[in-house]
Amino acid sequence: MQVFRSNVTGTPNDPLDTWSCASKDGRDLIADYVEDKQKRGLRYSTVFNTRELKNFNISDTDYLLGIFANGHLMLEHERNQGPEGMPSISDMTEAAIKVLSKNKKGYFLMVEGGNIDMSHHRGKAKRAVSETAAMDEAVRTAIELTDSEDTLIVVTSDHTHTLSINGYPARGSNIFGVAQPSSYDGINYTTLSYGTGGPGSFHFEVHTDEHNETHVLREDANRVETDSYEYEQVAGIRLIENSHGGGDVTIYARGPFSHLFHSVHEQHYVYHAISYAAKIGQFSGSVNLKASFLMCSIVTIVLLALR
Ligand SMILES: [Zn+2]
Repeated sequence: MQVFRSNVTGTPNDPLDTWSCASKDGRDLIADYVEDKQKRGLRYSTVFNTRELKNFNISDTDYLLGIFANGHLMLEHERNQGPEGMPSISDMTEAAIKVLSKNKKGYFLMVEGGNIDMSHHRGKAKRAVSETAAMDEAVRTAIELTDSEDTLIVVTSDHTHTLSINGYPARGSNIFGVAQPSSYDGINYTTLSYGTGGPGSFHFEVHTDEHNETHVLREDANRVETDSYEYEQVAGIRLIENSHGGGDVTIYARGPFSHLFHSVHEQHYVYHAISYAAKIGQFSGSVNLKASFLMCSIVTIVLLALR
């Protein structure tokens, strides 16, 4: 695990992030972190795989640094799920809550499921749904490890992607399968599709008929493996990759002041409601209704781009 150290090298199970850049200034930021904590006499742990994350000494740790990848974390279906591999987002949530909840004044934790967004950008809906299920586990973990009397949990997303659920598939159908033949041209189409997508989602073919006229036809979805982590659902507009969408996103809440999250909100409202519940920012020092005795912790879980 070399990230945060200069001149890093990647491995097949932990490649370098080619979308980002690597430090070449000779610094080792993990060593700097350790040195800083030691200098100040603080109790810390550093962990770099699932085994270490699950076994660090919590009673002797007030600061926990976990670095598990050189770039983005591997997707849930492809990561090494053994002790030497990368932890799940649920594992990381559990460790974070256990360390932060030692603070008697409460805490703020943000958990971000970024691989949902990454999978949608690649136009691969099965990956996005798999990552959403992993995020769902993290929410379950947060609920189990916290008390709804003193901890507000907010689960939301920062934007949509242009994913659509199409047609009239039979009840119980595979969501990654075929909905039915098109009522226009009789060609089978998938239940899921995107508005925009990269070249791999452009499932169209050119045919020349007996009159030498050319027609663009959509690929018959029954002829390909649509229930695959590799399959890119058909998209209407061809871009470099799938784009974000403009749809409303859901927001769920449990715990103190969860009643403030309901119906439709302008996105900035979420920030103000969390500030009010936690008595931070413009509301620091304020008295919150009858709950002024409450030391409210916040767990904000952002399901990135979950539709
Ligand atoms: Zn994005």
